[in-house]
Amino acid sequence: MADHPACTLLIAGEALTGGGRDHADILDPATGETIGSVPHATADDLDRALEAAQRGFKTWRSTSADQRTAILLKAAALIRERAPAIGEALTREQGKPLKEAIGETIYSAMLLEFYAQEIKRVYGRTLVRPAGQRVEVQYHPVGPVAGFAAWNFPSLNVMRKIGGALAAGCSTIVKPSEETPSAGLALVQACIDAGVPGDAVQCVFGVPDQVSTHLLASPIIRKVTFTGSTAVGKHLAKLAAEDLKIATMELGGHAPVLVFADADVDAALDTMTANAFRNAGQVCVSPTRFLIEQPVYERFRDGFVERTRAITVGNGFDKGTDMGPMASARGLERMESLIGDAKEHGAQLLSGGERIGNQGFFHQPTVLAEVPTDAAIMNDEPFGPVAILNPMAGEEAMIAEANRLPYGLAAYAWTQNPARRRRLAAEVEAGMLAIDTGGVSAADAPFGGVKWSGYGSEDGREGVLACMVPKTVHEA
Ligand code: NAD
Repeated sequence: MADHPACTLLIAGEALTGGGRDHADILDPATGETIGSVPHATADDLDRALEAAQRGFKTWRSTSADQRTAILLKAAALIRERAPAIGEALTREQGKPLKEAIGETIYSAMLLEFYAQEIKRVYGRTLVRPAGQRVEVQYHPVGPVAGFAAWNFPSLNVMRKIGGALAAGCSTIVKPSEETPSAGLALVQACIDAGVPGDAVQCVFGVPDQVSTHLLASPIIRKVTFTGSTAVGKHLAKLAAEDLKIATMELGGHAPVLVFADADVDAALDTMTANAFRNAGQVCVSPTRFLIEQPVYERFRDGFVERTRAITVGNGFDKGTDMGPMASARGLERMESLIGDAKEHGAQLLSGGERIGNQGFFHQPTVLAEVPTDAAIMNDEPFGPVAILNPMAGEEAMIAEANRLPYGLAAYAWTQNPARRRRLAAEVEAGMLAIDTGGVSAADAPFGGVKWSGYGSEDGREGVLACMVPKTVHEA
């Protein structure tokens, strides 16, 4: 694809490609065709990046808060300006509708704007002591941060890795997904163009496990932050533990949606059907397990199926497209296996269930109902365009089912009963709970999970503090 942006490494401010390095193809998931290639960093490249990150940390941490705020705000403005082009490359590599790709990139700029302002709100505190004594709690940047981002939100996932780190005064090396490299690379470039030293923000690609093993083996890296599957998250957490590096893990989920008989069913349907198929279901907070109180089950089920059938699947560049292809052939295979297994376990297939055509990685929006808990899809995150609708016998059973899995990222509930809302807030095991809304993410709100969905938060003031360490200074 002639107009697809060229992809390079960005090490110590230098754009690197070629030079005998390995390259991997970038595919368009709407066609399956190769649209470009991504260079793999060599071991020497990674060592250079580590040395630069050490230098960059010294420079960036001693840049005044005012200056860092101004630079990051400028980077956010550049990202906003470049969002149409970044969004186009993102859709070409990942498949989501263009307006979502541009929207995600603008949201990344908003997050950076929040982080830039937050720099001035990292307060320490002075403890009460007798006259002549002083104890001060200060917050310092932890050191160089290595970030590994997944392909489902190629802009936002990368901003979540670099934004908090840069706001805290850390240098950062980020590895966007090799499958969707362009948007993350463009964000790093915008930071450099705005004045972040090239040593303080760098971008690398490679064989994921080789890059993370190399970077995490270095004592220079003091924090790792990862978005991806629970399996890889556990692996990286173990590597981090070898050197007691701190870690933020944003991992898988399998979000329950508790729909009670007292809910505004139409509002729940309109919001949650769209949410379930956004980005072809490849969203860590995707609503997947619908637990519907018996009295409204049939109405909810029929309304959900009707709305699902109205979803237009197509190329992300077509104006009428609601849902693009899945990002990779891997996703299609997972869908086929999970849906097949659910049917074998007696689930009802109410809509979809098949791959669309044989070009690209398109799959029908799919609705399964009355799926038994021993079917794999009731236990493993589907990460695809499928929703499970199950009738339930009341609040206690619904909360128990919501909490049954080891995951705890997002949870949703629809109820107009205020006392029940409080009970859900207390009892549902999740990092984010949305009641009567589909929104679980905002620049100023911490985003992260519990249990196997990981630990540590991104976004909000917690996203900055996650890259800082307290130092207590005792003076007599
Ligand atoms: P995966 O965990 O293998 O890959 C996810 C991302 O992690 C990719 O971008 C990959 O490049 C990177 N990665 C993989 N191994 C790595 C390593 N050793 N070091 C550093 N980075 C590494 O998963 P996948 O096959 O791409 O997607 C399947 C599953 O991953 C999904 O079912 C879902 O559970 C999970 N996932 C979660 C999120 C999220 O937002 N939390 C995003 C993408 C995928």
